Amino acid sequence: MPIEILPDEIASQIAAGEVVERPASVVKELVENAIDAGAQNIEVRTLEAGQQLINIRDDGQGIPADELQLAVTRHATSKLRSAEDLFRVNTLGFRGEALASIGSVSRMTITSRVEGADSGAQLHVEGGIVGQLERIGAPRGTEILVSDLFYNVPARRKFLKSDQTERRHIDETLTNYALAYPQIRFVLEQEGKIALQTTGNGERKEIMAAIYGFDIARQMLEVIAQEGDIGVTGLISPGSLTRSNRRAIQFFVNGRPVQDYSLTAALLQGYHTLLMTGRYPFAQVFIDMPSDRVDVNVHPTKAEVRFRDRDEVFMAIQRAIRRALLAYSPIPELRSQYQWQPGEHNFPTTWEPNRGQINPEVESADPLVSIGPQESPELPHTRMPVLRLVGQIAAAYLIAEGPDGLYLIDQHAAHERVLFERFLRQAGDQVASQRLLEPVVVELPPASSRLLEQQLSVLHQLGFAVEAFGRNSYLVRAVPNLLAGMDPAAAIRVLVEDFEEDETPLQGKLEEKVIARVCKRAAVKAGQVLSEQEQK
Ligand code: ADP
Ligand code: MG
Repeated sequence: MPIEILPDEIASQIAAGEVVERPASVVKELVENAIDAGAQNIEVRTLEAGQQLINIRDDGQGIPADELQLAVTRHATSKLRSAEDLFRVNTLGFRGEALASIGSVSRMTITSRVEGADSGAQLHVEGGIVGQLERIGAPRGTEILVSDLFYNVPARRKFLKSDQTERRHIDETLTNYALAYPQIRFVLEQEGKIALQTTGNGERKEIMAAIYGFDIARQMLEVIAQEGDIGVTGLISPGSLTRSNRRAIQFFVNGRPVQDYSLTAALLQGYHTLLMTGRYPFAQVFIDMPSDRVDVNVHPTKAEVRFRDRDEVFMAIQRAIRRALLAYSPIPELRSQYQWQPGEHNFPTTWEPNRGQINPEVESADPLVSIGPQESPELPHTRMPVLRLVGQIAAAYLIAEGPDGLYLIDQHAAHERVLFERFLRQAGDQVASQRLLEPVVVELPPASSRLLEQQLSVLHQLGFAVEAFGRNSYLVRAVPNLLAGMDPAAAIRVLVEDFEEDETPLQGKLEEKVIARVCKRAAVKAGQVLSEQEQK
């Protein structure tokens, strides 16, 4: 084919592809615009995971009627004037691309009024075609309706994940900005239900509570440090409050949520020796520095930044985190980490300091990986010879004598296997379940509660009775007999955490996976002294 310049319409759709990847990208750009406009109140509503409708209202300064048509044009911005400005960006937006991009892949209506204007103005954009400006009464601020996202780019639609996942991305986007701007009141409503609501009173801990529940927010430690012109503030969890993935770690640079592995690495170094292998803290860390020391123009969605002096930032984070951890939580003596709990089969949760600080090696060695249901749904029927029990050593291994010699049995792995086989035998029939004397309330972040909702019926089959109890709260009424000794709230949290690890819907194998996880959590751990009966 000969070389030709692409028609504007196609060029802008290509450009839009960089910025608008999924419904959450639209939410992100429009929320950023509202924040840049000085809004005190930002309300976001979505339908069908943002694909049918994204509606965002703000009470910011508004767009003057005579600039509205310009606002939806590519490279039109009020935030940047010269190339030098690019190296001292103090706003979240600066490229003048978002409105044009969103307008080229949806049907978008903008209504806005500035202070002092006697009427507002409205503009409709459909697939990049800009309509007539209309005068209309409107409150001060801006309201944008984005409907039928990607209606003209069906290929893009196909790349979207399940509604559940897309909603979760929207939840996370709003959550991030709510944390970064605690003095702004945010409301997020998805499918008619409030998913997140903040008061705008500036209290980050309250927002943490709205997201992760009071229990977790209460334990968060405050970071406040200043090194030269680099400020590091935020909330981090003590080493005893961890998760199995990095998803609760978020960095913000000058109010902008960013993804950056080296920042996470600096954070984890700050935790050095205070975390078990494979465990990650909760952390919301805000880095503030002069805007000319950080380049924000390196990524189409502005999700990455480049520091002029990376090492300095890295060190500042590491030291700030370390200092906060040491100030609040003196390192426990080794003795208390391996406390013996004779006869106790309670589930040691990572949410309770000084309990369940179990041998990291045993925790991370996952015996089910080799024998697990994924590879071989039919468990091998290897017969164990008759063994004579000799005893327990190091509160971690059982010693037995068999026909061919000495057996050293990992008590955690062995118990897990026993529970797993027992559970599998029950599966299909009614799994024995124990009603709790008092139902327990579990609060979850909006994103996690969506995951849990998806899995309620599977959990039910496994002997859990869990029901929704208000927004992002669940009532646990019964747990499988196997988990009777375990803190029910912790059990649910652990399972949800495991669901989070998996992006793909599990289905089919789900039940077995859940069983495997439940058993892993319920099995006795290293460090537990067992009675002779239990050893047998
Ligand atoms: P950018 O944010 O990079 O400038 P956008 O395409 O997102 O580019 O927006 C274009 C312009 O429209 C902005 O520079 C701003 O002047 C105006 N604008 C967009 N959204 C709002 C809003 N919610 N309130 C006030 N002005 C807005
Ligand atoms: Mg913008």
